[in-house]
Amino acid sequence: MSHSKEEHHCWNCGEHSASERAARSLFCQFCNTLQAPSPDYYRFFSLPKTLAIDDEALQQTFYQMSRLLHPDRYGRRHERERNYSLEATAILNDGYRVLKDPVRRAEYVLRENGFQVGEQRSNEVPPELLEEVFELNMMLDELKAGDDDVIPQLDEARDRFLAMLDSIDTELDEEFRSHDAADDDGARMASLTAIRGILHRRRYIRNLIDEVDRQLTSRNA
Ligand SMILES: [Zn+2]
Repeated sequence: MSHSKEEHHCWNCGEHSASERAARSLFCQFCNTLQAPSPDYYRFFSLPKTLAIDDEALQQTFYQMSRLLHPDRYGRRHERERNYSLEATAILNDGYRVLKDPVRRAEYVLRENGFQVGEQRSNEVPPELLEEVFELNMMLDELKAGDDDVIPQLDEARDRFLAMLDSIDTELDEEFRSHDAADDDGARMASLTAIRGILHRRRYIRNLIDEVDRQLTSRNA
């Protein structure tokens, strides 16, 4: 018996799920017992593997599953089912936090596809920002040296970077749609590579803004 076939059998009543959809459900269609939850967030929420998602549908599924997994329902149940309910609740909460946030969602899909994401690359300046970042660092140095005249310029730079974040979010949204529309793996991977670049730039700018805020606050304190 193959592993995937085994998964489609209910651990409690032994019945075999008649359809793929039923097999993917958290509950046995025959005895309604909670099954081992999938650690895959998309699968857990019964969502297609797209980067653009229906926020409202996700939220509704979250509330519905929160009710179905409420601990009160499992207090008197079989220990195995009780353990599954705890496991499923953890996946539900983590998955919701990740999937409802476009950046976390994209990072999740990137990781699943073998991309490295996160802070380790965020010290490299994205090439298109080199000049702007250079100027910003000069201003920060002047501020640190005690030159308060540079503060209005820093405020302006901060506003420019905030505007960049907005346009990056638009760009991200567009790239999500082209990822979802890709009809072969090559196009899909190219799109994921582009998304990784956008996220890198986004993180870099976010860190810059935080740094400017820190310096300005310590100056005003
Ligand atoms: Zn069953």
